[in-house]
Amino acid sequence: MAEIKKEKKNTHEYSRKGRPSGNTRSSAGDEKRYANRRQGSETKPSPSRCPVSKKCGACQMIDVPYDKQLGKKHKHLKELLEPFCRVESFVGMESPEHYRCKVHAVFTHDRKGNPLSGIYREGSHEVVPVESCLLEDQKADAIIASIRGMLRSFKIKTFDEDNGYGLLRHVLIRIGKHTGEIMVVLVTVSPIFPSKNNFVKALLKEHPEITTIVLNVNDKQTSMILGDKEKPIYGPGFIYDICCGMKFKISPKSFYQVNPIQQEVLYRTAIEMAQLKGNETAMDCYSGVGTIGIIMSPHVKEVISVELNKDAVKDAIANARINEVKNVTFYQNDATEFMQQMAASGDSVDIVFMDPPRSGSTPEFIDAVKAISPKKVIYISCSPDSLARDLAIFEKKGYKAERAVPVDMFPFTRGIETVVLLTKTTDKEV
Ligand code: SAH
Repeated sequence: MAEIKKEKKNTHEYSRKGRPSGNTRSSAGDEKRYANRRQGSETKPSPSRCPVSKKCGACQMIDVPYDKQLGKKHKHLKELLEPFCRVESFVGMESPEHYRCKVHAVFTHDRKGNPLSGIYREGSHEVVPVESCLLEDQKADAIIASIRGMLRSFKIKTFDEDNGYGLLRHVLIRIGKHTGEIMVVLVTVSPIFPSKNNFVKALLKEHPEITTIVLNVNDKQTSMILGDKEKPIYGPGFIYDICCGMKFKISPKSFYQVNPIQQEVLYRTAIEMAQLKGNETAMDCYSGVGTIGIIMSPHVKEVISVELNKDAVKDAIANARINEVKNVTFYQNDATEFMQQMAASGDSVDIVFMDPPRSGSTPEFIDAVKAISPKKVIYISCSPDSLARDLAIFEKKGYKAERAVPVDMFPFTRGIETVVLLTKTTDKEV
């Protein structure tokens, strides 16, 4: 399923990673000092900033100073995109730590039955205990620690994958960075949660900033975190966040970028690049919960959005309503098929925004874009490899990449997000 694909895209940045010992609020400057100290030490190498980085494996650049991380990613991107266009400087973060507003912890216990929470050891189902993580929102980590601390007194057993006993499997925290709203999702194997009301009361006493708590039931043997059944046990069962002045509803399963600070930078970059005049018909392809289309809606005449995932389209329609946006139409369809139908009916648009999953788009989609003949295409990509492949096809169809701007959505990891502007050069194939 498409939404799952995108989730998968994020899963390598998704696991919990450990926090460095000492002050976690270190800045890029601290990192430089740390690096110098490291180089100066001749006896034994300094320990990693994260005690579990080797076992977790999600932060490939955990011990690389931030400016060097960006340098490495830039070099890699340039190698891939140089045949097509200029790659501008990376838009990095001022404070690259604790950016993840979606945090997941697996719950289990040690041999004595003491509750543990953490990450799966790479390639296994063994849980590596994690207290907190350099990437994750600190409030989320504190809530997870509180839940772990409450389990004994509430006699709630953590789930045991080997024998199937126990109740609590996972905790998922989602935070609306700009609204301060916090959702806690308790993932259990059964819908019966003993002393549920007192548990909620006790958790809220420790963290009054929590705005909703959802009970999600996952009784399947699966690597998916969330099951199909869920119900709010406190608050509305969702949170809102604000991005570029628009409000978005986030449910436990909604796709929403994990780094809300850079998400704004990414969308602003994409919309600025398009130099919209206000009279355009624009397309938002692979539109998820409608973010890009809704954010650009005040700057164009109309937006046509297409997305494969049904739930995401439902959320997108709700999001448009919340923001009183009336000039965006949402279609649930495969983007390639939809584009081909538009081409077959002789439709044309002025500009196409596309934000496909990691695997990129399809040659057929690009063919259909050519038939629809927009003057510009804005390609947002989370995979430089599929981006380079697709830019080569676009070039053959008469669309030239003008500039690429990388935005660092995933500090400390290898992840690279790029926005590319393509313009129509010719009506003939080159
Ligand atoms: N633009 C959105 C979502 C980008 S993620 C945002 O910025 O939040 C990529 C999206 O592509 C996902 O929502 C996924 O469900 C969707 N998708 C994957 N394959 C698709 C396909 N073949 N056709 C249309 N949408 C697809």
